[in-house]
Amino acid sequence: MSYVQSLRCKECATEYPIEPRTVCDNDFAPVEVAYDYDQMQGRVTRQSIEAGPRSLWRYKDLLPIEGAPLAGQRSGYTPLIKADNLARELGVRELYLKDDSVNYPTYSYKDRVVSVALTKAIEFGFDTVGCASTGNLAHSVAAHAARAGLRACVIIPDGLEQGKIIGSLVFGPRMVKIRGNYDDVNRLCSQIADKYNWAIVNVNLRPFYTEGAKTHGFEIAEQLGWQLPQHTVVPVAGGTILPKVHKAYEELVTLGIVDDNKPKIHAAQAEGCSPVVKAIQEGKELFHPQKPNTLAKSIAIGNPADGYYVIDVVNKSGGHAACAADAEIIDALKLLATTEGIFTEPAGGTTLACAIKLIELGHISRDESICICITGNGLKTVDALAEVGNFPDAPVIDAKLTQFDDLVSQIDETTTCESKVSASSQAASNIAQVKCR
Ligand SMILES: *Cc1c(COP(=O)(O)O)cnc(C)c1O
Ligand SMILES: [Zn+2]
Repeated sequence: MSYVQSLRCKECATEYPIEPRTVCDNDFAPVEVAYDYDQMQGRVTRQSIEAGPRSLWRYKDLLPIEGAPLAGQRSGYTPLIKADNLARELGVRELYLKDDSVNYPTYSYKDRVVSVALTKAIEFGFDTVGCASTGNLAHSVAAHAARAGLRACVIIPDGLEQGKIIGSLVFGPRMVKIRGNYDDVNRLCSQIADKYNWAIVNVNLRPFYTEGAKTHGFEIAEQLGWQLPQHTVVPVAGGTILPKVHKAYEELVTLGIVDDNKPKIHAAQAEGCSPVVKAIQEGKELFHPQKPNTLAKSIAIGNPADGYYVIDVVNKSGGHAACAADAEIIDALKLLATTEGIFTEPAGGTTLACAIKLIELGHISRDESICICITGNGLKTVDALAEVGNFPDAPVIDAKLTQFDDLVSQIDETTTCESKVSASSQAASNIAQVKCR
């Protein structure tokens, strides 16, 4: 039993049965899962959700699944952290971090979308799943497929970080590297899905996959005590998570589960791949595809499938957009680590760097509630940091207390303390000063 009605075209509203499908036959616009919200009234409530498992499946009534979860049973329900140290540093009153860097089992937000997509793939009867990935999606598809007993084929651009490749291969999928960038990979995957009858999660299962991203937004609301943050800053790669966080907020309002505080959704991208941010800043409805050039590889998608809807949602909600240069991304990533003890990958550094700019520019008010979406884990991308992280070399000594004493006596306690504080404020103000070109 579910509340799912159909797949519905986002543009012309043509309805299709629940089947593997990406776009509408009439206009090639994406199709989206439609639900019967009237039937949900009084049945899907705070209480019904709170009675569910401590995983993303507590929101199963709002997901396009008929039976029990068949993959990712323990994914989701990641921490929402009140980031008081970082808030003090940035001069804001109420700051939260939704921390999907510790999502189970592969440490990124992708475990949400894959849990739903693979459950749906099994419901449809597929035995082989795959994906077009910038790294994290491949990890998640490979891991979930291993546990669910499905064959997996992950397709990635060549030139990804070594950590990103091993992090998939360990789960035993077939892996193919494509000479080219993510957009080339994606194009090939559309042809593969058609020809081989495989479930490519972000291609022919895309309407189901994307619904999983709503759970990031549901959790923010529930963990805030069933309230919506006034500002949510969301990274944009293919453009899945941002509109779906907004859809999650809207569904909770529709069901009377939270009050409508007109939440603003803001978009974050790396400057070296910022087609959607540029369009929003220039007041355009459509974006120009771009060739990515950034160390934030997991969000380097130059032709985002749902970029149009990102622009629409940001504008409709009254949000804004910012992009950050690679150096600012690294500064922000370090600031998050030194203030809150969270090690995110460059995608998370991007989101924080952009949030700082939006605060400094007055697009986010300092006394309103802010949630920053941290979507990936830094331990996967240490290679990227080793070259540009600018970390001091640790001194090497013999295992002798006298040598350690010498080292300690060279360190003047007060100056280190002050320089630590000023280093992090410096990072914040550096980021704030460099505006996106
Ligand atoms: C995939 C990904 C995103 C966002 O991707 P969308 O396609 O826009 O949903 C953000 N951060 C990380 C770390 C990711 O892997
Ligand atoms: Zn249509």
